[in-house]
Amino acid sequence: TDSRVKYKRIVLKLSGEVLRGGKAGDPIDGATLEKICNQVKEIHELGVEICVVIGGGNIFRGLNGVKRGVDRTTGDYMGMLATVINGCALMDCLEKMGVRTRVQSAIPMNQIAEPFILRRAQRHLEKGRVVIFVAGTGNPYFTTDTTAALRASEMHADIIMKATKVDGIYNKDPKKFPDAVKYEEITFIDALKQRLNVMDSTAFSLCLDNSVPILVFDLGDEHAIRKAVFGDRIGTLVHG
Ligand code: UDP
Repeated sequence: TDSRVKYKRIVLKLSGEVLRGGKAGDPIDGATLEKICNQVKEIHELGVEICVVIGGGNIFRGLNGVKRGVDRTTGDYMGMLATVINGCALMDCLEKMGVRTRVQSAIPMNQIAEPFILRRAQRHLEKGRVVIFVAGTGNPYFTTDTTAALRASEMHADIIMKATKVDGIYNKDPKKFPDAVKYEEITFIDALKQRLNVMDSTAFSLCLDNSVPILVFDLGDEHAIRKAVFGDRIGTLVHG
C-alpha cells in the first residue's frame, strides 16, 4: 500500500444519484459513471481495499412506490433490484478499465452476482479485487446506508466514505440558510445531540455502536476519493 494511504480498507457508499447525468439526465450517465470509476481505479492502484455499497435512488426508492400505492415491502424489493442494476453498471465500467471486481448480492441471483458470503468477500479484497455489494441488506425497511454500516462492521473496514452531492455536514441546511457552517469533524454524540442527519438512524447507530467513522463528502472534485483516502481535509468526518 502507498505510504500516504490513511485508510487501508474502506467501504465506499455511493448513492444512486451520483450516477445520474445532471438534474434531469439519464439515471445512469456513461460519462459520469466513467469519472467515478476512474476515481475508484486511482485508489485501487494505491493498494486500498475497496468495498462499494451502491444505492438505487436514481432508479427507484421504496417510499416513492408507496406514494403511488405500491406496498412498502414490494417497493423496497424494487429499490433493492435498482441497486443491482447500478452495481452491474459499475462492474462493467471498472472491468473495462482493467480493475478486477466481484459483485455480491444480498438476494441470491446466481446468474448476475455471487451471493454475499463474508469470508469470500474478504478473500476478494486480499486478492486485490473491488467488491461491489448490491441488493442492500436483502431486507425491506432498510437503506443502503444501513447496508454500508453493516458491511463496514462485518468487513472490519477502517471507515465508511459516503459520497454524495453535498460537501459535508452543516449545522443547518445550507440551501435554506446562507450562514450555515460546515463541520470539518464532529463526534457521534455531538451529531446526535444536534440532530444532524448524517445517515438514517439505523445506519448511524450501527456506526456508533461499532465505532466505524463516517466521512461525508462530495464526489465533484475529480480526486475527491483519493484525498479522502489520504486523510486530507475534505467533507466532514464523524468519529467516536
Ligand atoms: N432498500 C431496502 N433494503 C435495503 C437497502 C435498500 O429495502 O437493505 C430499498 C429501499 O426501498 C431504498 C432503495 O432500496 O429506498 C434504494 O436504496 P437507497 O434509498 O438506500 O439508495 P440511495 O439513496 O443510496 O441511492
